[in-house]
Amino acid sequence: MSDNPPVILVIEDDPPIRRFLRTSLVNHDYQVLEAETGKAALALAAQQPPDLVILDLGLPDVDGLEIIARLREWTAVPIVIVSARGQEKDKVAALDAGADDYLTKPFGVGELLARIRVALRRAASLAGAKGPEAALFRVGELSLDLAARRVFLAGGEIHLTPIEYRLLTTLARHAGKVLTHRFLLKEVWGVAYAEQAHYLRIFMANLRRKIESDPARPRYATSSPSKASATAWPRSDPASKARPRRGRDSRP
Ligand code: CA
Repeated sequence: MSDNPPVILVIEDDPPIRRFLRTSLVNHDYQVLEAETGKAALALAAQQPPDLVILDLGLPDVDGLEIIARLREWTAVPIVIVSARGQEKDKVAALDAGADDYLTKPFGVGELLARIRVALRRAASLAGAKGPEAALFRVGELSLDLAARRVFLAGGEIHLTPIEYRLLTTLARHAGKVLTHRFLLKEVWGVAYAEQAHYLRIFMANLRRKIESDPARPRYATSSPSKASATAWPRSDPASKARPRRGRDSRP
């Protein structure tokens, strides 16, 4: 079993359905976050970015379609809709807004779990850029298995917190590029945290203690000498002068 079980954010205002979802997911070793309103959900997603979102379209404050659009401003997290709205036009609107899948209530838990697995597999393979082999990432003595969500240093497994894991995989996915602290804060913590540079300093220091043999002279995640507010991975990559990747929120 992975040390980093996927985190699923359940956005559902109906208490019995929320309880049912939580129980089903926890029984299958997922970590579950819950929100019963759209506003709470958006705040929670920014604070603790989940690996997958289960979204009920009929919420008391913000319409589900609006939630999809707001999440898509900054994250590509898989979104699975569970809705009582079963008409084709509702499904088309949700999928066009950026949802990944759509289940009509009532649904069986087996089908929901299968669709979650599909969405997570697809996200893991996208994270690895080019399919399952690319989901294995190695540099020096450090290796990341993105599909299994496990990290090894010199053959031994190392244990990271969910935020440390997300920070490491974000760095690894953009290997060879200089990433601004603003970009990392948005990718790892969410768009609301873009200016919280102290978060990054603290978590980067913790991460270095775990993955670097000499944290004072990091091999893997180095501060860019030309730009005090940027980090590159890995240090020796000749392409490290590349421009930072544009955040998803800055696309035209
Ligand atoms: Ca509802």
